[in-house]
Amino acid sequence: RAKFEGGDVYRVFTKELEVSLLQRRSTEELLRRSLINTEKLEVFYQPKVDLATSQVIGVEALARLRDDSGKIVSPIEFIPIAEETGLIIQLGNLVLERACQDCYEWNQKGHKIPVSVNISAVQCLHNDLVNTIETSMQTSGLEPALLELEVTETAFIRDFEDTLEKFHQLKQIGISISIDDFGKGYSNLTYLRRLEVDKLKLDMSYVRGMLENPRDYEIVKTIINLGQSMNLDIIAEGIETEFHRDALLKLGCQYGQGYYYAKPLPHDALLDYLNKPAKKGLEA
Ligand code: C2E
Ligand code: MG
Ligand code: MG
Ligand code: MG
Repeated sequence: RAKFEGGDVYRVFTKELEVSLLQRRSTEELLRRSLINTEKLEVFYQPKVDLATSQVIGVEALARLRDDSGKIVSPIEFIPIAEETGLIIQLGNLVLERACQDCYEWNQKGHKIPVSVNISAVQCLHNDLVNTIETSMQTSGLEPALLELEVTETAFIRDFEDTLEKFHQLKQIGISISIDDFGKGYSNLTYLRRLEVDKLKLDMSYVRGMLENPRDYEIVKTIINLGQSMNLDIIAEGIETEFHRDALLKLGCQYGQGYYYAKPLPHDALLDYLNKPAKKGLEA
């Protein structure tokens, strides 16, 4: 009897493993096809706002894949696979090119706001990073001041001196750099002392917890104060309610993004959003 149960457990386990392996394989396949048939890759844009006025101050480019049934596949699923397989280099270049072109377009249409592009650790450590970015600037015609890169700490943990040098070169070109998901990783302060970064993006887990958990609240406060004293802008991620916005504003956080303002939007929907007047200001 016990043996029999053991067999069942084993079977359930392998079944789950099988499903996740199949899923992984199909995502990898979709990813590979999307690099050839590039309309399967879409880039959505989430507005970043000035919390006091709801004015849009920039947008973040977020990659999406569309599967054969037309369903959107989340980057949480395909980015790790892209990193493991090395496909992130090609994928990242496509996102970068698309984001630069789109940003150029809305700037032509009178919306002078920068675009931020996520750069994974693998891309960051790749020798061609600076060249690739320069090429995208040239082909799109976008001015470097309108491009921002978002990099997580995993990049500089792996090779700090290399990142330091690359960030320096990017800053020379006029590109700005944010540390993404700040507070989530090791957040070693020596990094901040030496890296030429402009912004810290406060990880959304703290924003989510700050109203219920006093420790999260204190951490948010500390990060905002740190930013202020080091002359770094703070952008809070994952603002879902006016209560989050109000609490962040009270602590002196100037910028944010989140579903309260807008979800990541396809290019045309973003243009519509930009054409509407700010509607979630404090005056409202
Ligand atoms: P991230 O860079 O930290 O991006 C923020 C994520 O939070 C996005 O998820 C966004 O849709 C989500 N988000 C924004 N506001 C809210 C909110 O109010 N509530 C909640 N629950 N979520 C919110 P998304 O688009 O699924 O992307 C997930 C992650 O995948 C990104 O995290 C980024 O690390 C990675 N990623 C996305 N696109 C790219 C890309 O082109 N290249 C690279 N290397 N990574 C990417
Ligand atoms: Mg990001
Ligand atoms: Mg983030
Ligand atoms: Mg995140």
